[in-house]
Amino acid sequence: PPPTLLHPEKWCRGFNHFISQCLIKDFEKRPSVTHLLEHPFIKQVHGKDMSLQKQLAELIQEQQQLGSVAKTRHERIHTRRPYHVDGADKYSLDDDLVNLEVLDEDTIIHQLQKRYADLQIYTYVGDILIALNPFQNLSIYSPQFSKLYHGVKRSSNPPHIFASADAAYQSMVTFSKDQCIVISGESGAGKTESAHLIVQHLTFLGKANNRALREKILQVNPLVEAFGNACTAINDNSSRFGKYLEMMFTPTGAVMGAKISEYLLEKSRVIKQAVGEKNFHIFYYIYAGLYNQKKLSEYRLPDKKPPRYIDNETGKVMHDIITKDSYGRQFEAIQHCFRIIGFTDEEVYSVYRILTGILNTGNIEFAAISSQHQTDKSEVPNPEALDNAAALLSIGSEELQEALTSHCVVTRGETIIRTNTVDKAADVRDAMSKALYGRLFSWIVNRINTLLHNTENGMNIGILDIFGFENFARNSFEQLCINIANEQIQFYFNQHIFALEQMEYQSEGIDATAVEYEDNRPLLDMFLQKPMGLLSLLDEESRFPQATDLTLVDKFEGNLRCKYFWRPKGVELSFGIQHYAGKVLYDASAFLEKNRDTLPADIVVVLRTSENKLLQQLFSSPLTKTGIFCTTLLTFFVFQVDTMEVMRHPEETTNMKRQTMASYFRYSLMDLLSKMVVGQPHFVRCIKPNDDREALMFSHERVLLQLRYTGILETVKIRQKGYSHRILFDEFVKRYYYLAFKAHETPLGSRENCLAILEKSKLDNWILGKTKVFLKYYHIEQLNLFLREVI
Ligand code: ADP
Ligand code: MG
Repeated sequence: PPPTLLHPEKWCRGFNHFISQCLIKDFEKRPSVTHLLEHPFIKQVHGKDMSLQKQLAELIQEQQQLGSVAKTRHERIHTRRPYHVDGADKYSLDDDLVNLEVLDEDTIIHQLQKRYADLQIYTYVGDILIALNPFQNLSIYSPQFSKLYHGVKRSSNPPHIFASADAAYQSMVTFSKDQCIVISGESGAGKTESAHLIVQHLTFLGKANNRALREKILQVNPLVEAFGNACTAINDNSSRFGKYLEMMFTPTGAVMGAKISEYLLEKSRVIKQAVGEKNFHIFYYIYAGLYNQKKLSEYRLPDKKPPRYIDNETGKVMHDIITKDSYGRQFEAIQHCFRIIGFTDEEVYSVYRILTGILNTGNIEFAAISSQHQTDKSEVPNPEALDNAAALLSIGSEELQEALTSHCVVTRGETIIRTNTVDKAADVRDAMSKALYGRLFSWIVNRINTLLHNTENGMNIGILDIFGFENFARNSFEQLCINIANEQIQFYFNQHIFALEQMEYQSEGIDATAVEYEDNRPLLDMFLQKPMGLLSLLDEESRFPQATDLTLVDKFEGNLRCKYFWRPKGVELSFGIQHYAGKVLYDASAFLEKNRDTLPADIVVVLRTSENKLLQQLFSSPLTKTGIFCTTLLTFFVFQVDTMEVMRHPEETTNMKRQTMASYFRYSLMDLLSKMVVGQPHFVRCIKPNDDREALMFSHERVLLQLRYTGILETVKIRQKGYSHRILFDEFVKRYYYLAFKAHETPLGSRENCLAILEKSKLDNWILGKTKVFLKYYHIEQLNLFLREVI
């Protein structure tokens, strides 16, 4: 029956908590708004406030709608557990691992497995959400569900990703504080899907009157992911970059804009992919789109054998492009995204020219010219590829060839032109493609920010979807960066869950049992410390022209003397790191080159002559690029040559100070963290139940491993032993004074008055600190219950 659907927390948003309790009770007895308005409390506090009447009517209507949604939901997915919208006294113990009496790995796993079998993919650990990837579409994300998870108490509904979004939203609106939702998990665990769902729900909650803006925000993820995601061995839609999406809200909680920051785009994928993997989605989409529009020849793309960069040995790429309807449809979707977000036709056209220019660049080949005098000279045996690339990039083909096959050096003040060997020329070609793509990606992100940014003051909710921990058969520089980033995120998690909590107990003079947890600080120090940390050593070695990857590993071995680093015998270029999530063996080949990430000045000079305005802008003067860098802040993979003044006169570049990958990486990690720490964090831990992407398959070992390294067991313990609610005396008295005082009294927010209330309510296990009441997660529900009985 609808009356019971009124919810205390809901009322609290508009009214004093105590009053809401009375209102509910009253409304349950007589479900009439007029009657409710006659309630002594309403009269006393609000007098003849007519807006209150409207507000009440709206709330009740909303609650009644919720009731009907609840019923459908009950039939559809919740046969097992009776559905209670007012869950204060009907809390399902299953939903939160903290309620388990026996706390060991087996029990926790068993619980998760049982829930997974019932398609209950979400489970709480106190305020943290565990999300098991269902590997199938569930019908629990419809608008009806959005309504259900709107401003209600967590325990009112089964755990859900929408509840986490709602918690962040409510917390932002109530406390006027920025929020941050950190989504973590391995590749394929469901982070990106979770991030989408959160954005979906937040756009619902932050009801923007501006429909167009909402539409735009919803197109951001699909667009950015077309350029930044790719099919890998693990995940068909794997994010190959980290993303921090900030949704901006007005003080009243209406969406007003969005901003995105990208981290560590895996540029190397543009030029080469591992067996069974693919290039970034956009290349296939555009190929199919141009094929459908019969425009392949206009963009100088063959319709038989696709360009080398996307033809990853399988030979079936072309077949897929032609026959797979989905690529073509995706292309249309991307065009739609561009349009909705507000890119001009000219900009989009330039983007396509650059993308197809990259594909053609990949086809440029090099052959050695052996003459008596020179053996290290190369030429292009397939000039048509060169012409195609140059045409699409709107640059001269001779100039391009020259920049690929030779380079300027300065020796004793004189500029000399040196030729490139075949290998070197191919490296330069690939470096150019990577730079083009990386800068294009950053430009797109930056353009989105300009189009969606709102400079008005407001609050924001940041959503962090960063690549998970990676451990492949071969792990290179990219994996190292990704894993260090994860190490940092784990540290942040630990800080919040364990360290800060324990610090608060100390400062409040409370003697709470400390829960042991794996502190990964020493490991982070090993990576980040200056001057002897791994990244610093890498930078130092990158500065020596004679250094090799082997001298680099030697240097690591000589300096990183700790239990987290080791060097396996017999494999020269390999070193191992004991990460918080497990041991990873890295292959150091090309580490130095990747860290230096040089793009020859000669190439930059040629690209700057482009008649394509966008391309010109991508490689324009360092000043503008620094500007771009400041706004997106985190494009450390992208603007490598920004700090280097690239001139027609190479002598000016001799004393330039080059930024390496490692230093950008360090910088962006710090930047990310600085953004995260200002907000109140919410954690979503994604877990991959099996490696076969199969629905309803639950691999005990795989889940156990993930629970272990994410510290879930310890988290459950600390949430159980700890006091998840810490309320200032004043606030506590305001909320619950009615339990020990008369309605007309206004007791002070003192320690004694808190004590009086607590004793009167006969709760166990609470603690009074110096300024706060420390309560267990279940106390709040109990207190609310008492309050209702008393009123
Ligand atoms: P990650 O970003 O952690 O690498 P994704 O979010 O890309 O992982 O998820 C991998 C795949 O798992 C998705 O493509 C989708 O098929 C499936 N998946 C993840 N979460 C859900 C969900 N909530 N509902 C349905 N399928 C999901
Ligand atoms: Mg992802």
